[in-house]
Amino acid sequence: MKILVINAGSSSLKYQLIETDTNEVLAKGLCERIGIDGLLNHTSAKGEIKGKETPMKNHADAIKAVIESITSADYGCISSLSEIDAVGHRVVHGSETFSGSVMITDAVMQSLEECAELAPLHNPPNIVGINACKEVMGDAIPQVGVFDTAFHQTMPERAYLYGLPYEYYEKYKIRRFGFHGTSHRYVSERAAKMLGKDPKDCKIITCHLGNGSSITAVDGGISVDTTMGFTPLEGLPMGTRCGSVDPAIVTFLMEKEGLDTAGVNGVMNKKSGVLGLSGVSSDFRDLEEAAAGGNRRAAAAIEVFAYSVKKYIGAYAAAMGGVDAVVFTAGIGENGVGVRAKCVEGLEFLGLRIDAAKNKTRGKEIDISTEDARVRTLIIPTNEELMIALDTQAIAGK
Ligand code: AMP
Repeated sequence: MKILVINAGSSSLKYQLIETDTNEVLAKGLCERIGIDGLLNHTSAKGEIKGKETPMKNHADAIKAVIESITSADYGCISSLSEIDAVGHRVVHGSETFSGSVMITDAVMQSLEECAELAPLHNPPNIVGINACKEVMGDAIPQVGVFDTAFHQTMPERAYLYGLPYEYYEKYKIRRFGFHGTSHRYVSERAAKMLGKDPKDCKIITCHLGNGSSITAVDGGISVDTTMGFTPLEGLPMGTRCGSVDPAIVTFLMEKEGLDTAGVNGVMNKKSGVLGLSGVSSDFRDLEEAAAGGNRRAAAAIEVFAYSVKKYIGAYAAAMGGVDAVVFTAGIGENGVGVRAKCVEGLEFLGLRIDAAKNKTRGKEIDISTEDARVRTLIIPTNEELMIALDTQAIAGK
């Protein structure tokens, strides 16, 4: 089947057209500056469009530009819209309503609107993307929603409840949801394959380390705990997000700095993490360069990040009563040679031991453990789009 995968943001829209018979990406691209002016980037085997000014006053215009590109004689890969069998949409928050991917119906749209309050930055643009596809493509092409939170719906109560009055869970659904679920699911399935085992027989810790970072404990193929929480702010310190901090810091900072709720939210989401610590950048390549040049705060930011990753690996090995493999994925996980080494340094007691030469690998599937390591350390490039396409095929193909 030919599946169009859509990841709609507030002013951008990423897409891939995937042939699920071969898992081949037929075309991919990015619409930027939607609602401002509009820029199109598109690649297929036939050719490339780079930063072409293309008026996009809304997401429907962006979808029209995508369809024009993939059906174009010069840059396309299909001859008409009717060749698209289904559309798979990334949706960030599915609350407790969605524990798996679903066909989008009017009732599902209603539930998505209700979930929007839990992810005000992400769900509304996802909904706009779905509506834009419906507007441009009509009802003939099935649309499927794939949720970042769904994989984590298997977490037991002891992992998802916070130590807050229970009524807030009942009233507002304040609980751990977890994010990056599609990525954790994909790499944990690949990891089981690399181990030559059934996922049901594996204990895997998946480290999705990118601009946003989270770690998941996957026991028997299901998520049993994860570092992100009610929102994607909890857990590891990230590019610009603070991760877990003493909650009392929030009110202390509000008082001292005269911040309102939006102000303190801005500090914790946009000015913290390794950017806030280093004062240099949110990008680990810049941090490594600055640290190598003697910048003490950049070096400290890398240490804080790697130490936090290491602590969660230990915590999740304890939570699962063992671990067969630790997986590194996403921008830093796949490429950050030095950071990876720091994350597992000192975990030899747990059975992790990496081969320094193998650890120099970037961006491809490999077991970087030494022969004698009891626990395998794996690099697995994530592929959320493929996972969305395969889910969409499974649901729309029925
Ligand atoms: P992502 O959000 O998965 O796209 O990851 C983005 C992050 O990956 C960037 O902010 C960088 O910090 C990191 N990254 C990408 N390439 C490298 C590299 N070669 N070495 C270290 N970090 C990298």
